[in-house]
Amino acid sequence: MYEGMVIRPPSEARSLILQITLGCSHNRCTFCGTYNDKKFRIKGLEEVFADIEEAVPEVRGYTKRVFLADGDAMMLPTDHLVKILDKLQQEMPELGRVGIYANARDILGKTEEELKLLESKKLGIIYLGLESGDDEVLKSVKKGATAQEMTDAVIKAQECGIKASVIALLGLGGRGEGGRRHAEATGKVASRMNPRFFSCLTLMVLENTPIGRAYERGEFELITPEESLKELRIIIENLDVKNTIFRANHASNYLPIGGTLPRDRQKVLDAIDACLRGDTGMRPEFLRGL
Ligand code: SF4
Repeated sequence: MYEGMVIRPPSEARSLILQITLGCSHNRCTFCGTYNDKKFRIKGLEEVFADIEEAVPEVRGYTKRVFLADGDAMMLPTDHLVKILDKLQQEMPELGRVGIYANARDILGKTEEELKLLESKKLGIIYLGLESGDDEVLKSVKKGATAQEMTDAVIKAQECGIKASVIALLGLGGRGEGGRRHAEATGKVASRMNPRFFSCLTLMVLENTPIGRAYERGEFELITPEESLKELRIIIENLDVKNTIFRANHASNYLPIGGTLPRDRQKVLDAIDACLRGDTGMRPEFLRGL
């Protein structure tokens, strides 16, 4: 049923993962090697329906959630997504929530009516990789969207009732001044988005990516564990959100941390400071992973 590497957000660990596209239609981000081996393809509806019929009985009683993969499945036309959501509902009457990875253009290319229709059919959450709030960084990593476009997309989805989970990448701006700018802009842009969920991962360079090759050539520098905490601190300092569940507990991070913001802001800052002072330890390098 699955083709190639299949990834999903950590919070979808208990969901039924259903591949409705293969690979990523963008597939240009210089830090991402996830779909290097996959030529982008939209799976036919018959194939997807057969997968649903096969998989749903196996997960009945275990989960009420479904995650639609691969990379940016939200690029599919609305009527195609509606047919899949209807089929899911038919085979899985207990269906609680459907999640999906989305790019800015996927959301902005749909009307509010289309987004509301998808929401009414249980599409409850989009996962959007902001990566950085700094347009220079976004351009250099070939993200294919500006910070403003991603902000507009998140606001639009949330106004239509679809929750947004936004992901940023510590270290993507490199070291020094670039890193500081990246962190500051990321905090500010995430504030404007005011997403329901916001998480920070830490960049790990993969050999099979342009950024990995730039690192090998000495043209890109990775931040140190201390610098990753300082970036995180700058992001939190600049983060002005209303009620956001914040997580930096991904396996790639040096200090697993989280809370609800703004309520836990000081607690999160204190935990970062304690770690920077050396009062608490960081996750050792050999325990980090993607
Ligand atoms: S949009 Fe996402 S999946 Fe596609 S290349 Fe960029 S990071 Fe990878």
